[in-house]
Amino acid sequence: MIEVRGLSKTFGATKAVDNLTFNVKPGMVTGFLGPNGAGKSTTMRMILGLDRPTAGTALIDGKPYGDLVQPLRTVGALLDAKWVHPNRSARAHLQWMAASNSLPKSRVDEVLHLVGLTEVAGKKAGGFSLGMSQRLGLAATLLGDPKVLLFDEPVNGLDPEGIVWIRKFMQRLAAEGRTVLVSSHLLSEMALTAEHLVVIGRGRLIADTTVSEFVSKS
Ligand code: ADP
Ligand code: ADP
Repeated sequence: MIEVRGLSKTFGATKAVDNLTFNVKPGMVTGFLGPNGAGKSTTMRMILGLDRPTAGTALIDGKPYGDLVQPLRTVGALLDAKWVHPNRSARAHLQWMAASNSLPKSRVDEVLHLVGLTEVAGKKAGGFSLGMSQRLGLAATLLGDPKVLLFDEPVNGLDPEGIVWIRKFMQRLAAEGRTVLVSSHLLSEMALTAEHLVVIGRGRLIADTTVSEFVSKS
């Protein structure tokens, strides 16, 4: 469960996030919908302790990110594919992450299998397509077997097969009882992916409802 309470972030004169309050519940995909610049990434970064709120709080299973004892065992985040080191293999990326976060080495081959990268695990990530890089990012988010998962525009730029694959993967994670928050600027994409919708514009909450309610009222 993610609880966002009165969350705000101001950059100079810009109110990037403006007094947002919503919950993200386990067992379903929650879509975080809004146009580019609406404040989705900033909100996710505050949930993950990467940006400091100007006001308000964001809790993951009742605690701020900074108070989680083993964060990667609680929350996984796929923010963008830019973190990939081109000269390292897929397996090396995950081994490094596992080692630096006290996660078991055995988990590396498990997550490679989960995302379908076993056969290319020894290849340099620099040669990966965007779709493969996203799978590697997904493997990284799954290393700690977290109950809470955040995905920031995960299907941007992917080919249709990659989009469907990521979408089904996120739905499976939710069906396992995990808490899944996924952002997008496209209602059409969210309508196919999510059950619940949190809609924002200019940093403010516009709707917090089911996808079917939102679509029938729009
Ligand atoms: P979204 O993810 O919905 O596209 P963002 O959270 O990236 O929106 O951005 C929300 C607003 O905050 C935008 O106006 C953006 O330009 C601004 N913003 C985001 N990060 C920064 C930053 N580090 N410095 C200044 N402005 C920022
Ligand atoms: P690097 O030092 O290589 O830049 P990062 O700290 O950016 O590594 O993290 C690498 C990857 O780890 C991210 O792209 C994301 O997939 C995952 N990650 C980042 N933050 C978190 C988090 N809070 N919880 C789980 N996984 C995370």
